[in-house]
Amino acid sequence: MSFTTFYHAYLYKMYDTPALTVFLCVLAAAFSATHAVRYNITIAATNSTGGTRFQNEIGTNFTVETMVSATGFIWDTFNETVPEDRRNWTTVHFFYEDTQLLAYTSGDEIHFNAGYFGKYEGNVTGEFAGVLYHEMTHVWQWDGNGATPTGLIEGIADYVRLKAGYVPSHWVKAGAGDRWDQGYDVTAWFLDYCNGLRDGFVAKLNKKMRTNYTEDYFVELLGKGVDQLWQDYKANYAPVPAIAASSG
Ligand SMILES: [Zn+2]
Repeated sequence: MSFTTFYHAYLYKMYDTPALTVFLCVLAAAFSATHAVRYNITIAATNSTGGTRFQNEIGTNFTVETMVSATGFIWDTFNETVPEDRRNWTTVHFFYEDTQLLAYTSGDEIHFNAGYFGKYEGNVTGEFAGVLYHEMTHVWQWDGNGATPTGLIEGIADYVRLKAGYVPSHWVKAGAGDRWDQGYDVTAWFLDYCNGLRDGFVAKLNKKMRTNYTEDYFVELLGKGVDQLWQDYKANYAPVPAIAASSG
């Protein structure tokens, strides 16, 4: 799939002399004719390390390109082939700013913590893209009209990140965790196992959650309850005692 992107960027720098803080405000908009979704980028980081790092190592072009590719990837992963299948956001807003959380999404707004990326050690663009795929999934996924448990919501977001190839070094290994709905990496690996049992499972689960949520969806799609599936999954990754004992 190819995308046609029209891209405009405006960069303002204002120096607040008394505090010598740098305020960066970048407003960018990209419009993809294929997707008919607009992307607005606002860079408002007073954290100088995070702001400088964004300019030097990440940039608005990379941000918009990643948002466009994430949108296409998510619609493919959810097998949402026509607009009627999808959530009907027309614009997705991205804010790079000073926040407490690493990142969060509310409706069609994604917020990234500049301080986190300013001090991130390792492949900062890979981490940035991985977090962006996770947050973009929140923008596009169905949530059972609020009935879907948080752990499953977060697990699906990390499942998309996993399938996109952005698994960070801080993730647990496949088979780890105590509960299927623990969320994030734990649930992502479990959903990957479930999807291996039936190709398209995650897409079908997401589709069912358009209007409601019930654990019965697992039985309907895979013929087993989610607790039984979790037991099967854990049995698949039964630990080797010597390794388990030395892992702390
Ligand atoms: Zn999340």
